[in-house]
Amino acid sequence: KYDDLVPLIMNIIETYQVNNPSHTIHCDIQTSNTMVLGDKDKIGQVFNNLISNAIKYSPDGGDILINVFEEGPNLNVSVKDQGLGIPEDAIHKLFTKFYRVDNSDRRRIGGTGLGLAIVKEIMKAHEGDVFVQSVLKEGSTFTVSFPLVIGGNLQDDKPHDQENKGKVNVIIVE
Ligand code: ATP
Ligand code: MG
Repeated sequence: KYDDLVPLIMNIIETYQVNNPSHTIHCDIQTSNTMVLGDKDKIGQVFNNLISNAIKYSPDGGDILINVFEEGPNLNVSVKDQGLGIPEDAIHKLFTKFYRVDNSDRRRIGGTGLGLAIVKEIMKAHEGDVFVQSVLKEGSTFTVSFPLVIGGNLQDDKPHDQENKGKVNVIIVE
């Protein structure tokens, strides 16, 4: 099933903004092609995990910037914070189950180390991926990319929808 990323993201932002007044969440939508194919709840979970991390690992508050943009054949969403950042040698382990960065600056911040492993798994199931850029003590940017859906492709929605009703969560783009 096709869903529009924008209202999905906006709802999540609103909830986090209301509960975290020391952070300011900005959102910049740079494209009108914001439809994605997949499981709305799981995609929502991706943004929940990324935005909750951005807040949790910015203990001094700050801005969180969410950008929605096209890049080549992809629709990307980046979540950028001004938080603790990630040590270079930890970057390649981040998406491993139960991995947590063990630094004095975040020892008191709780978690199970599953959030990003789940993000990776959900993005792979949607023919997409997740990437990270980070500078220690300056902040991090997590970017997820979906296959871009444009114009005519959307007409496939109904037949797929009927065919797969109640059977599968994720439909792969041809
Ligand atoms: P969980 O999400 O399961 O509650 P968690 O937040 O520790 O626990 P992940 O979301 O998988 O687990 O993140 C793994 C580790 O990556 C974290 O322990 C944290 O150190 C680091 N990390 C994740 N996001 C950020 C971020 N935005 N800024 C700095 N460090 C981060
Ligand atoms: Mg987390």
